[in-house]
Amino acid sequence: MATILITGGTVVSATGSAPMDVLVDGDTVAAVLQPGSRLLGTDLAAGVDRVIDATGKYVVPGGVDAHTHMELPFGGTFASDTFETGTTAAAWGGTTTIIDFAVQRTGERVLDGLAAWHEKAAGNSAVDYGFHQIVGGVDDDALKSMSELVSEGITSFKLFMAYPGVFYSDDGQILRAMQTAADIGATVMMHAENGIAIDVLVQQALARGETDPIHHGLTRPWETEEEATHRAIMLARLTGAPLYIVHMSAKQAVATLAAHRQQGFNVFGETCPQYLYLSLEDQLGAPGFEGAKWVCSTPLRSRAQEHQDELWRYLRTGDLSVVSTDHCPFCFKEQKELGLGDFSKIPNGIGSVEHRMDLLFQGVVEGRITPERWVELCSTTPARMFGLYGRKGVIAPGADADIVVYDPSGHTSIGVGKTHHMNMDHSAWEGFEIDGHVDVVLSRGSIVVSDGAFHGRAGHGRFVPRGLNQYLR
Ligand SMILES: [Zn+2]
Ligand SMILES: [Zn+2]
Repeated sequence: MATILITGGTVVSATGSAPMDVLVDGDTVAAVLQPGSRLLGTDLAAGVDRVIDATGKYVVPGGVDAHTHMELPFGGTFASDTFETGTTAAAWGGTTTIIDFAVQRTGERVLDGLAAWHEKAAGNSAVDYGFHQIVGGVDDDALKSMSELVSEGITSFKLFMAYPGVFYSDDGQILRAMQTAADIGATVMMHAENGIAIDVLVQQALARGETDPIHHGLTRPWETEEEATHRAIMLARLTGAPLYIVHMSAKQAVATLAAHRQQGFNVFGETCPQYLYLSLEDQLGAPGFEGAKWVCSTPLRSRAQEHQDELWRYLRTGDLSVVSTDHCPFCFKEQKELGLGDFSKIPNGIGSVEHRMDLLFQGVVEGRITPERWVELCSTTPARMFGLYGRKGVIAPGADADIVVYDPSGHTSIGVGKTHHMNMDHSAWEGFEIDGHVDVVLSRGSIVVSDGAFHGRAGHGRFVPRGLNQYLR
């Protein structure tokens, strides 16, 4: 196994930053040393297989993207990234672990869905991966499977309050799943939108001839997100299940979450880069059908209503705990185009798995968050939230050597033909310029990105069984 010394850089963790050298031995971190330390000999650099000069750069734990959908079946098509293309793009962007969603749709069996996901990922992933389980049909069989899955390292279960007939659970089903989750210590993840109300608004809009992509956002108003968020929290309080609300975009929904966090309940919130940077007016409302590129649920929200600034504020206060991508890419040609003339047929999703570390670092550059909070939001907290911390989310002896050397003086131009390795014919982030650059990426001690080239391979990434939520003990 190779030994690598990363020297001259500043190690940034969730709790602080300091000049430190990092010694990697095989898959894991062997030591984090003061520069010039003679503890392991006088010339450590001469005794290792490779030295990475990180002078002037940040050395951070690899990103953990806790919300991706490789090859997700949706709306008659499939998300366009495979585990190979999606995890390769993730690696390019400094994300070394993804947690993808295994899918049980209404009418299918949980264990069949999970088996299918293992098959998609095994041997095809460039970085390590875990699974959450989507439960799209809560019944006795599904509830029994939840207990079994926890012992297999799948410790979080996603329910939907939207998409009737596909993923939707009614309140009774949610209650039963939460009771089971509370019993077994699992975390319930919630897609919190009132899908029943939304579907009526959608039909009414279409009947009025309102077919453009912007109506996707207008028919999913903030009230439908806030109402569902509140209802989910109440059911979680009733049952004692830990609750993690995914892809929050409405400031009112986060205010509700914050109020219940303040009362000491185990409710957590996630947002995504698209809700921090993009808006109903600027992207979803682009002329003609262009806005289809930004159709995702929850939807992009109004900049005039200042949702974006409020979400950044909640990232600072800690009421939003995690930034994941909800990576769910669809090509414009033939996929997004399924919704030409009917916005409700546009596959929901944006591809961002490659850009999350850069986009959030831009928040550091702009003075919205500290470098430490950047690491916490993108790596440390998602690792703790989903039972990976210690192995992932930290640079410390014994941890997996998932490490990013990030150049704060570098530059990244995002867009097709520039920085773009996702399997998509467009970028939702076209034209974004980042004052920073992912220079070197290690996945379990293997250099997968350096010198502007990809050195990883499909099959290097392994399934990582997860423990329970580490915020609860
Ligand atoms: Zn969702
Ligand atoms: Zn999602």
